Amino acid sequence: MLAFICTACGTQYAPSETPPPHCTICEDDRQYVPPRGQTWTTLEALAASHFNACRQYEPGIIGIGAEPHFAIGQRALLVCTPHGNVLWDTIAMLDAATVTLIRALGGLAAIGISHPHFYTTMVEWSRAFGNVPIHLHAADRAWIMRPDPAIKLWDGETLALLPDVTLIRCGGHFPGGTVLHWAKGAGGHGVLCSSDICTVTMDRKFLSFMHSYPNLIPLSAEQVTGIAAALEPFAFATIYGHYFDRVIPTGGKHVLKISVERYLKAIGTYGS
Ligand SMILES: [Zn+2]
Ligand SMILES: [Zn+2]
Repeated sequence: MLAFICTACGTQYAPSETPPPHCTICEDDRQYVPPRGQTWTTLEALAASHFNACRQYEPGIIGIGAEPHFAIGQRALLVCTPHGNVLWDTIAMLDAATVTLIRALGGLAAIGISHPHFYTTMVEWSRAFGNVPIHLHAADRAWIMRPDPAIKLWDGETLALLPDVTLIRCGGHFPGGTVLHWAKGAGGHGVLCSSDICTVTMDRKFLSFMHSYPNLIPLSAEQVTGIAAALEPFAFATIYGHYFDRVIPTGGKHVLKISVERYLKAIGTYGS
């Protein structure tokens, strides 16, 4: 039995004799099946053809992403705090070098994931670090393709993971869409790990918000104002999106404000 991984989205399924007949994540309107059709790999095959690259953005924030690009191509973030390390989002690719390096930094206290597109090989990551808990918002439970006792579903609007580290449910892209706030990041000004719940745009000057990025389906005004309201109580300067180069270094809170205004104006609801 092998735990097959979808090559289009990186989702790993529960072990089976043959690859799953289709990918539930890719067939949803927030993803897509490539023109070539559905194909599958395994973690062993992936680790033979890829490696993980790391980038330290600031003390305590290290990005980890596969080279060459695999599936959606997001990078994870390792948030290192005096109270333990959190892995924010997971990527499909996990190898011995990655495990060795993270263990040398103190291992993991917890895994938090923004939404189902980045669940990937979360169970492998948990097992590699002593079955650490994987915190997923309960609203997205239907999209868990590899159930495991390490998965801890949380309900409500916020979850205090560690001192100064909070998961915030924003909704939007997925009903349980979650971001991570680290109050002590950015020299104490606060860091928001926004994944693609609030997407850092290509010019790194704005955020944007979508139901489906590949299929270009926007969110409603109500959903976007809901994201703004969820983030209102939190201070942050730096925003880390879900790709290596999607970072807003300063003024993050102001960027959120003008981004929400721009979005609402674009869909014709600003000021109404
Ligand atoms: Zn898929
Ligand atoms: Zn997504």
